Amino acid sequence: MANPVQASGQSPYEAFQAARRARIVVNLANISFYASIALVIVVAAMLLMDYSKQLLIAWFLLLISPGLNLVIRQLARTGRGELAGYLFVAYYMLVIALNTSTIANISPILAPGLLLVAAIGGLVLPAPHSFVVAGLGAATYIVATAAIRTGVEVASLSLPLAQAFDMVVIVSAMLFMSLVSYYVTSDLRKALDEATFDVVEANQKLAKASEMKSQFTARTSHELRTPLSAIIAFTDLALHDTYGVLPPKLREALTHVFTSSRHLKVIINDLLDLSKIEAGQLDVGAEPFALAKLVETVESTSAPMAAEKGLKWDLQVDPKMPATLIGDVERISQILVNLAGNAVKFTEKGEVSVRIEPQGTDRWRIQVRDTGLGIPESQREAIFEAYRQLGNGAANARTGGTGLGLAITRHLVRLMGGTIRVESTFGKGSTFTVELPLKSPVAIA
Ligand code: ADP
Repeated sequence: MANPVQASGQSPYEAFQAARRARIVVNLANISFYASIALVIVVAAMLLMDYSKQLLIAWFLLLISPGLNLVIRQLARTGRGELAGYLFVAYYMLVIALNTSTIANISPILAPGLLLVAAIGGLVLPAPHSFVVAGLGAATYIVATAAIRTGVEVASLSLPLAQAFDMVVIVSAMLFMSLVSYYVTSDLRKALDEATFDVVEANQKLAKASEMKSQFTARTSHELRTPLSAIIAFTDLALHDTYGVLPPKLREALTHVFTSSRHLKVIINDLLDLSKIEAGQLDVGAEPFALAKLVETVESTSAPMAAEKGLKWDLQVDPKMPATLIGDVERISQILVNLAGNAVKFTEKGEVSVRIEPQGTDRWRIQVRDTGLGIPESQREAIFEAYRQLGNGAANARTGGTGLGLAITRHLVRLMGGTIRVESTFGKGSTFTVELPLKSPVAIA
């Protein structure tokens, strides 16, 4: 069957519903086409047995039906489903009203006949129109009953013929309704099956694409890291005068190479971490480590950055913290360096402070506070998503960054069974607090 033309301005859902209703109209028109041919024959036979002018009019009216159903079918197929639905409903209401009010003893089928047509109207027309159809049915019923009561020129069939006619019409109506209902349900089920299939297929494609992207990122980052490590190592050696004393200009140039390569390595490491997270392959270790090592790492990376920007740097470790902890020192350092690095990056004046302290007996926390740009309330969740950066363009543009740091940090914290939260006053500063389970070979005092 041809697809009905999609009316402009429809949402995909509306277009889908309109197409479904059009399919129902096409099927109704098909059923009615054959049913009305049968009815034309039945009424012709009745005319021969019991002629009346009214029955002849009814017969002529029925003669239109097969042709009209072909027109209705065509309209529905060419995107004019509503017009087709209205034509169908209006025609059958007219046939029922006219026949039942002019042929005396078939009036009992007036109400059920109109109800049936109104119900069909509800299936083939969208919501507001189905109310119009119900109203039309009610109005037709009132007019037809009034006509019967006030006595239009009425013919009456012989009683057995009228009874037989009523019975045939009611039985066929039941059959018709069950066919319609069967068709509507199976059409819906089919549409649902197709939609489910499409969603499942799209999901599989997305999962595959995402997996391939992760694999690609993982492989490329890995491949990039090896030559980059060589560049960093040899530049470092050169800067330490291993290959002879460097002329000042060359030293300056090599220092740029060294800093940029280290920056690039941070980005590549972040990409590699993210692809591991996406593939569910990021693990954290649990080895004893000296807290001093963690402190030393962050002091050596972030304190010089703070000093360079003229910021006060203040790191304090609560004396109640055990000297040795159990955990993944590389990953905890990564968390701390990232938070402290951000604090320095997004602060222009004032201070960056880091506190490391126990929380009760079984948790400890790292708190990084700055007096920088702050984070608007609406963005406090979003900054933890991958590739998210705030519109603080100047700082981001100056410092680069990929927007991956906090996404990786949150993932690492969760892997370690901890929590991370941020408090911030926009324009005044932010405080990031990480809480981790405290595991130590020595119990704290
Ligand atoms: P990156 O620092 O590489 O941009 P992150 O994931 O670490 O990525 O941070 C995401 C964004 O969150 C940053 O771009 C910045 O806009 C915002 N942000 C993070 N930390 C701070 C902070 N201490 N103060 C203000 N904004 C911050």
